[in-house]
Amino acid sequence: MANRLVVIGAGESGVGSAILAKKQGFEVWVTDAGKVKQKYKDVLTKYGILFEEGKHSEDRLLGADLVIKSPGVPDTVPLVVKLRQAGIPVISEIEFAGNYCRAKTICITGSNGKTTTTMLTYHLLKTAGLNVGLAGNVGQSFAWQVAEADYDYYVIELSSFQLDGMYAFKADIAVLLNITPDHLDRYDYQLQNYVDSKFRILQNQTPDDFFIYGADDPIIQKELKKRNIPAMGLPFGWTQAPRNGAGIEDEKLVINWKQKTFDMSIFDIALQGRHNTYNSMAAGLAGMVLNIRNEKIRESLSDFKGVEHRLERFLRVHGIEFINDSKATNVNSTWYALESMNKPIVWIAGGVDKGNDYHALKDLVKSKVKAIVCLGVDNKKIREAFADIVPDIVETQDMTDAVRSAYYLAKNGETVLLSPACASFDLFENYEDRGRQFKNAVREL
Ligand code: ADP
Repeated sequence: MANRLVVIGAGESGVGSAILAKKQGFEVWVTDAGKVKQKYKDVLTKYGILFEEGKHSEDRLLGADLVIKSPGVPDTVPLVVKLRQAGIPVISEIEFAGNYCRAKTICITGSNGKTTTTMLTYHLLKTAGLNVGLAGNVGQSFAWQVAEADYDYYVIELSSFQLDGMYAFKADIAVLLNITPDHLDRYDYQLQNYVDSKFRILQNQTPDDFFIYGADDPIIQKELKKRNIPAMGLPFGWTQAPRNGAGIEDEKLVINWKQKTFDMSIFDIALQGRHNTYNSMAAGLAGMVLNIRNEKIRESLSDFKGVEHRLERFLRVHGIEFINDSKATNVNSTWYALESMNKPIVWIAGGVDKGNDYHALKDLVKSKVKAIVCLGVDNKKIREAFADIVPDIVETQDMTDAVRSAYYLAKNGETVLLSPACASFDLFENYEDRGRQFKNAVREL
């Protein structure tokens, strides 16, 4: 029997996998090239699981029957290549835990909006009184919960990296929000590879399963023409709602499902902005499929508090609203942020450019942005892209400087929007750190 299991990476998902594996009778060993956090060391010790840190002992890894690797480790690192060459299966935490999960799964992927839609769907199921767990990038890992909790449903956020390590796993309800080029460095700079990875969300589905997807998305549209989808397809888009699916009619979000119809004014939805209406359609559709009552869907779409760092309306200072959209790390998410604003914007942008093409933002910037505050080590591309349409473009050194400059440029009734369209690693630890620094600087005004 395949019994020797090695987990690469002793973080939340790795430790969760190790606990689950131990409970399932595997001989488990954990290896982490970095330092293992004390809290995880304590847990591993409690369960009697052996681990090493600061290196990966190759001999021991090559003696494994099964390896679980964190989605953060690319398939191309020599160690993973070697394992595969040796014929040792290398899978992801979600794939592994899926083998032991009896609950129904609602799995959510897309280039943007995963976390928001996952949290919203979880909120919806919880409001309806279902016994539901939340997994993926948020909170406790899926494997850990499968080992220790007993849920009837899981709402799981899946990135393309996670999907790449999944083979036998099946989503009962798969949600694909949108696809825009992202992370291409991990996909040989081939968009199709990234698209294929996103479509793995449909793997192993049968006609009894469901596929909720963004029908306005051109890449998804094109791909659907090529593929045979066994599950029942439920599209959502900015058109009249199809017989089974969601749409917009007379400023109402409408969902049709079998003989039932749900509707609510788009102005009553807690999360504003077109992108969030899409997210709400996706979550609402999942709710309909699970036979959640209309009142409960309405209640949860209207009282959802939102997720930190995603268009988070943080504070109003002297009539100027400060919005934290630090999680907007690509052009597409910033496009939706700008689109959803209806007051003049002082826009704080910049950071690590992932090959951004700012062209797509030009019309919106021209009509809505009165000043740009650049916050990043190199802002040349931003300045060049918008110099002819925005009168004020200023350079700043750190977040305090950026927030003060924006405050100075904005007037009563206007908005200061941090939506960088870039990664944060030049000046910040991560996007959370960037968002928190923004909020601290606003508090100090
Ligand atoms: P992800 O988990 O996919 O990164 P998040 O929910 O964390 O997505 O949101 C990331 C950024 O994308 C935020 O700036 C958010 O406002 C924006 N966003 C949210 N939903 C969508 C969507 N459906 N389409 C485009 N951008 C979105």
